[in-house]
Amino acid sequence: MMSAPKAHASPIKAVLIDISGTILIGEHAIPGAIDAIQKLQQQTNVKVLFLTNSSTSSMSLLEQLRTAGFDELAIPKIDAIMTSVSATRNYLLQNNLRPYCLVEDELVETDFVGVNRNNPNCVVVGLARSKLNYEKLNWAFRLLTKLKKADAESDNTTISNPPPRLIAISRATHFLDSDHELSLGPGGFVTLLEETVGVTAHVIGKPSPNFYQAAVSSLLGIEYDPSSTVMIGDDVKGDVSGALEAGLGCAILVKTGKYVTGDELGTKTRGILPTFTADSIVEAIDYICSNIM
Ligand SMILES: [Mg+2]
Repeated sequence: MMSAPKAHASPIKAVLIDISGTILIGEHAIPGAIDAIQKLQQQTNVKVLFLTNSSTSSMSLLEQLRTAGFDELAIPKIDAIMTSVSATRNYLLQNNLRPYCLVEDELVETDFVGVNRNNPNCVVVGLARSKLNYEKLNWAFRLLTKLKKADAESDNTTISNPPPRLIAISRATHFLDSDHELSLGPGGFVTLLEETVGVTAHVIGKPSPNFYQAAVSSLLGIEYDPSSTVMIGDDVKGDVSGALEAGLGCAILVKTGKYVTGDELGTKTRGILPTFTADSIVEAIDYICSNIM
Protein backbone atom coordinates (compact mmCIF):
# COMPACT_ATOMS: atom_id res chain seq x y z
CA MET A 1 0.00 0.00 0.00
CA MET A 2 1.22 3.48 -0.85
CA SER A 3 1.25 6.15 1.84
CA ALA A 4 -0.59 9.33 0.91
CA PRO A 5 1.81 11.54 -1.07
CA LYS A 6 2.63 14.79 0.65
CA ALA A 7 3.02 18.09 -1.14
CA HIS A 8 6.61 19.30 -1.34
CA ALA A 9 7.42 22.98 -1.45
CA SER A 10 10.86 23.43 -3.06
CA PRO A 11 11.90 21.91 -6.40
CA ILE A 12 14.24 18.97 -6.09
CA LYS A 13 17.80 19.53 -7.24
CA ALA A 14 19.51 16.49 -5.77
CA VAL A 15 18.71 12.92 -4.76
CA LEU A 16 20.79 10.90 -2.31
CA ILE A 17 20.33 7.12 -2.47
CA ASP A 18 21.43 4.53 0.06
CA ILE A 19 23.00 1.38 -1.43
CA SER A 20 22.69 -1.67 0.85
CA GLY A 21 19.08 -2.76 1.20
CA THR A 22 17.86 0.03 -1.07
CA ILE A 23 19.32 -0.78 -4.50
CA LEU A 24 21.38 -3.86 -3.66
CA ILE A 25 20.88 -6.91 -1.46
CA GLY A 26 24.04 -8.94 -1.15
CA GLU A 27 25.29 -9.27 -4.72
CA HIS A 28 21.97 -8.66 -6.44
CA ALA A 29 20.14 -5.56 -7.62
CA ILE A 30 16.68 -4.97 -6.15
CA PRO A 31 14.20 -5.83 -8.96
CA GLY A 32 13.59 -2.78 -11.17
CA ALA A 33 16.29 -0.69 -9.44
CA ILE A 34 18.61 -0.41 -12.46
CA ASP A 35 15.89 0.89 -14.81
CA ALA A 36 14.52 3.22 -12.14
CA ILE A 37 17.91 4.79 -11.47
CA GLN A 38 18.63 5.17 -15.18
CA LYS A 39 15.30 7.01 -15.46
CA LEU A 40 16.27 9.31 -12.59
CA GLN A 41 19.72 9.98 -14.09
CA GLN A 42 18.02 11.08 -17.33
CA GLN A 43 16.41 14.00 -15.47
CA THR A 44 18.89 16.69 -16.44
CA ASN A 45 17.87 19.05 -13.63
CA VAL A 46 18.64 16.54 -10.87
CA LYS A 47 21.98 15.40 -9.44
CA VAL A 48 22.29 11.93 -7.93
CA LEU A 49 24.73 10.70 -5.30
CA PHE A 50 24.89 7.25 -3.70
CA LEU A 51 25.48 7.69 0.01
CA THR A 52 26.55 4.68 2.04
CA ASN A 53 27.78 3.71 5.48
CA SER A 54 29.30 0.58 3.97
CA SER A 55 32.71 -0.36 5.37
CA THR A 56 33.79 -1.44 1.89
CA SER A 57 36.24 0.46 -0.32
CA SER A 58 34.60 2.69 -2.94
CA MET A 59 36.35 0.76 -5.70
CA SER A 60 35.12 -2.67 -4.63
CA LEU A 61 31.67 -1.20 -4.02
CA LEU A 62 31.59 0.13 -7.58
CA GLU A 63 32.78 -3.26 -8.89
CA GLN A 64 30.03 -4.97 -6.88
CA LEU A 65 27.42 -2.60 -8.34
CA ARG A 66 28.74 -3.08 -11.90
CA THR A 67 28.57 -6.88 -11.44
CA ALA A 68 24.97 -6.53 -10.24
CA GLY A 69 24.16 -4.70 -13.52
CA PHE A 70 24.38 -1.01 -12.58
CA ASP A 71 26.05 0.26 -15.75
CA GLU A 72 27.39 3.74 -16.48
CA LEU A 73 23.90 5.01 -17.29
CA ALA A 74 22.84 4.19 -13.74
CA ILE A 75 26.05 4.95 -11.83
CA PRO A 76 28.38 6.95 -14.07
CA LYS A 77 31.63 6.71 -12.09
CA ILE A 78 33.23 6.26 -8.70
CA ASP A 79 32.65 9.95 -7.82
CA ALA A 80 28.92 9.18 -7.80
CA ILE A 81 29.46 7.21 -4.58
CA MET A 82 30.21 8.81 -1.21
CA THR A 83 31.14 6.43 1.58
CA SER A 84 31.52 7.05 5.29
CA VAL A 85 34.97 5.50 4.84
CA SER A 86 36.24 8.36 2.67
CA ALA A 87 34.66 10.87 5.08
CA THR A 88 36.49 9.08 7.93
CA ARG A 89 39.83 9.40 6.12
CA ASN A 90 39.27 13.15 5.69
CA TYR A 91 38.38 13.50 9.35
CA LEU A 92 41.49 11.61 10.51
CA LEU A 93 43.78 13.71 8.32
CA GLN A 94 42.16 17.02 9.31
CA ASN A 95 42.49 16.23 13.02
CA ASN A 96 45.99 14.67 12.93
CA LEU A 97 44.58 11.40 14.23
CA ARG A 98 46.54 8.15 14.02
CA PRO A 99 44.02 5.32 14.22
CA TYR A 100 44.10 1.84 15.62
CA CYS A 101 41.79 0.31 13.02
CA LEU A 102 39.02 -2.16 13.75
CA VAL A 103 38.51 -2.15 10.00
CA GLU A 104 39.35 -4.81 7.40
CA ASP A 105 42.99 -4.64 6.23
CA GLU A 106 41.98 -4.37 2.58
CA LEU A 107 39.99 -1.23 3.32
CA VAL A 108 42.82 0.36 5.31
CA GLU A 109 45.23 -0.25 2.42
CA THR A 110 42.94 1.15 -0.28
CA ASP A 111 40.93 3.88 1.43
CA PHE A 112 43.15 5.14 4.28
CA VAL A 113 46.10 5.99 2.05
CA GLY A 114 48.26 8.66 3.71
CA VAL A 115 46.82 8.07 7.19
CA ASN A 116 49.59 7.50 9.76
CA ARG A 117 48.83 4.49 11.97
CA ASN A 118 52.01 4.48 14.06
CA ASN A 119 51.63 5.12 17.80
CA PRO A 120 47.82 5.31 17.60
CA ASN A 121 45.93 8.12 19.34
CA CYS A 122 42.40 7.00 18.48
CA VAL A 123 40.33 3.93 17.57
CA VAL A 124 38.30 3.64 14.37
CA VAL A 125 35.49 1.06 14.25
CA GLY A 126 33.79 -0.15 11.08
CA LEU A 127 32.07 -3.33 9.98
CA ALA A 128 35.00 -5.74 10.19
CA ARG A 129 34.11 -9.40 10.45
CA SER A 130 37.73 -10.45 10.99
CA LYS A 131 38.62 -7.72 13.54
CA LEU A 132 35.70 -7.44 15.95
CA ASN A 133 36.92 -10.22 18.24
CA TYR A 134 37.89 -10.27 21.95
CA GLU A 135 41.61 -9.79 21.43
CA LYS A 136 41.31 -6.73 19.21
CA LEU A 137 38.38 -5.17 21.09
CA ASN A 138 40.33 -5.60 24.31
CA TRP A 139 43.36 -3.92 22.74
CA ALA A 140 41.10 -1.03 21.69
CA PHE A 141 39.60 -0.87 25.20
CA ARG A 142 43.06 -0.64 26.79
CA LEU A 143 44.24 2.02 24.33
CA LEU A 144 41.10 4.15 24.83
CA THR A 145 41.40 3.85 28.61
CA LYS A 146 45.01 5.09 28.48
CA LEU A 147 44.12 7.94 26.09
CA LYS A 148 41.20 9.01 28.26
CA LYS A 149 43.46 9.11 31.35
CA ALA A 150 46.14 11.10 29.50
CA ASP A 151 43.52 13.56 28.19
CA ALA A 152 42.16 14.07 31.72
CA GLU A 153 45.66 14.66 33.11
CA SER A 154 46.55 17.20 30.41
CA ASP A 155 43.24 19.03 30.88
CA ASN A 156 44.81 21.92 32.78
CA THR A 157 47.73 22.39 30.45
CA THR A 158 46.10 22.35 27.02
CA ILE A 159 43.81 25.10 25.83
CA SER A 160 41.86 23.26 23.16
CA ASN A 161 39.72 20.18 23.80
CA PRO A 162 41.25 16.83 22.88
CA PRO A 163 39.84 15.30 19.70
CA PRO A 164 37.41 12.38 19.97
CA ARG A 165 39.33 9.17 20.64
CA LEU A 166 36.64 6.73 19.49
CA ILE A 167 35.48 7.17 15.91
CA ALA A 168 32.69 5.15 14.31
CA ILE A 169 32.58 4.83 10.52
CA SER A 170 28.96 3.92 11.13
CA ARG A 171 26.94 2.85 14.14
CA ALA A 172 24.33 0.83 12.29
CA THR A 173 23.21 -1.94 14.63
CA HIS A 174 22.34 -4.43 11.89
CA PHE A 175 21.85 -4.88 8.17
CA LEU A 176 20.38 -7.39 5.72
CA ASP A 177 23.20 -9.75 4.78
CA SER A 178 23.81 -11.57 1.48
CA ASP A 179 22.16 -14.72 2.89
CA HIS A 180 18.97 -12.64 3.40
CA GLU A 181 19.30 -12.84 7.19
CA LEU A 182 19.98 -9.85 9.45
CA SER A 183 23.60 -9.52 10.60
CA LEU A 184 25.31 -7.44 13.30
CA GLY A 185 26.61 -4.05 12.21
CA PRO A 186 29.38 -2.13 13.98
CA GLY A 187 26.95 -0.20 16.24
CA GLY A 188 26.91 -2.68 19.12
CA PHE A 189 30.71 -2.82 19.22
CA VAL A 190 30.87 0.98 19.30
CA THR A 191 28.43 0.99 22.24
CA LEU A 192 30.50 -1.69 24.00
CA LEU A 193 33.62 0.51 23.84
CA GLU A 194 31.68 3.65 24.82
CA GLU A 195 30.23 1.99 27.89
CA THR A 196 33.34 0.16 29.06
CA VAL A 197 35.68 3.14 28.58
CA GLY A 198 33.19 5.90 29.40
CA VAL A 199 33.60 7.94 26.20
CA THR A 200 31.23 9.06 23.46
CA ALA A 201 31.99 8.03 19.90
CA HIS A 202 32.24 10.54 17.10
CA VAL A 203 30.03 9.10 14.35
CA ILE A 204 31.07 9.84 10.77
CA GLY A 205 28.39 8.15 8.63
CA LYS A 206 24.62 8.48 8.49
CA PRO A 207 22.76 9.76 10.53
CA SER A 208 25.49 12.36 11.24
CA PRO A 209 24.36 15.79 9.95
CA ASN A 210 27.98 16.50 8.89
CA PHE A 211 27.88 13.56 6.50
CA TYR A 212 24.62 14.76 4.95
CA GLN A 213 25.97 18.31 4.68
CA ALA A 214 29.13 17.03 2.96
CA ALA A 215 27.01 15.02 0.52
CA VAL A 216 24.68 17.90 -0.34
CA SER A 217 27.49 20.43 -0.72
CA SER A 218 29.48 18.05 -2.94
CA LEU A 219 26.50 18.00 -5.34
CA LEU A 220 25.18 21.53 -5.08
CA GLY A 221 28.23 23.50 -3.94
CA ILE A 222 28.96 25.26 -0.67
CA GLU A 223 25.95 27.58 -0.97
CA TYR A 224 23.69 24.56 -0.94
CA ASP A 225 20.09 24.50 0.13
CA PRO A 226 19.53 21.12 1.82
CA SER A 227 15.75 21.47 1.53
CA SER A 228 16.02 20.89 -2.23
CA THR A 229 17.48 17.41 -1.61
CA VAL A 230 15.72 14.05 -1.18
CA MET A 231 17.13 10.99 0.61
CA ILE A 232 15.97 7.43 -0.17
CA GLY A 233 16.85 4.51 2.12
CA ASP A 234 15.77 1.44 4.04
CA ASP A 235 16.91 2.60 7.50
CA VAL A 236 14.38 4.75 9.31
CA LYS A 237 17.03 6.14 11.68
CA GLY A 238 20.05 6.60 9.45
CA ASP A 239 18.31 7.43 6.21
CA VAL A 240 15.07 9.10 7.31
CA SER A 241 15.58 10.80 10.71
CA GLY A 242 19.19 11.63 9.90
CA ALA A 243 18.30 13.27 6.59
CA LEU A 244 15.34 15.24 7.92
CA GLU A 245 17.31 16.38 10.98
CA ALA A 246 20.10 17.57 8.67
CA GLY A 247 17.53 19.79 6.92
CA LEU A 248 16.83 17.76 3.79
CA GLY A 249 13.41 18.52 2.37
CA CYS A 250 12.23 14.98 1.90
CA ALA A 251 13.11 11.46 3.07
CA ILE A 252 11.63 8.35 1.49
CA LEU A 253 11.67 5.04 3.36
CA VAL A 254 11.72 1.90 1.19
CA LYS A 255 10.22 -1.38 2.36
CA THR A 256 13.21 -3.46 1.25
CA GLY A 257 16.48 -4.44 2.94
CA LYS A 258 16.36 -4.09 6.71
CA TYR A 259 12.82 -2.62 6.71
CA VAL A 260 10.37 -4.39 9.01
CA THR A 261 6.66 -3.66 9.22
CA GLY A 262 5.94 -0.57 11.29
CA ASP A 263 9.42 0.99 10.93
CA GLU A 264 7.86 4.12 9.43
CA LEU A 265 6.19 4.80 12.80
CA GLY A 266 9.34 4.07 14.84
CA THR A 267 10.48 7.69 14.94
CA LYS A 268 7.00 9.21 15.34
CA THR A 269 7.50 9.91 19.05
CA ARG A 270 10.30 12.29 18.07
CA GLY A 271 7.96 14.05 15.67
CA ILE A 272 9.68 12.63 12.61
CA LEU A 273 7.97 10.63 9.90
CA PRO A 274 9.13 9.62 6.44
CA THR A 275 7.79 12.00 3.79
CA PHE A 276 6.70 8.92 1.89
CA THR A 277 6.98 5.15 2.39
CA ALA A 278 7.51 3.24 -0.86
CA ASP A 279 7.41 -0.47 -1.62
CA SER A 280 10.86 -0.19 -3.19
CA ILE A 281 13.31 2.16 -4.93
CA VAL A 282 11.14 1.85 -8.05
CA GLU A 283 8.11 3.39 -6.37
CA ALA A 284 10.32 5.94 -4.59
CA ILE A 285 11.71 7.23 -7.90
CA ASP A 286 8.23 7.24 -9.47
CA TYR A 287 7.10 9.35 -6.52
CA ILE A 288 9.95 11.82 -7.00
CA CYS A 289 9.39 12.10 -10.75
CA SER A 290 5.64 12.60 -10.49
CA ASN A 291 5.22 14.58 -7.28
CA ILE A 292 8.14 16.79 -6.48
CA MET A 293 9.98 17.70 -9.66
MG1 LIG B 1 20.65 0.54 3.82
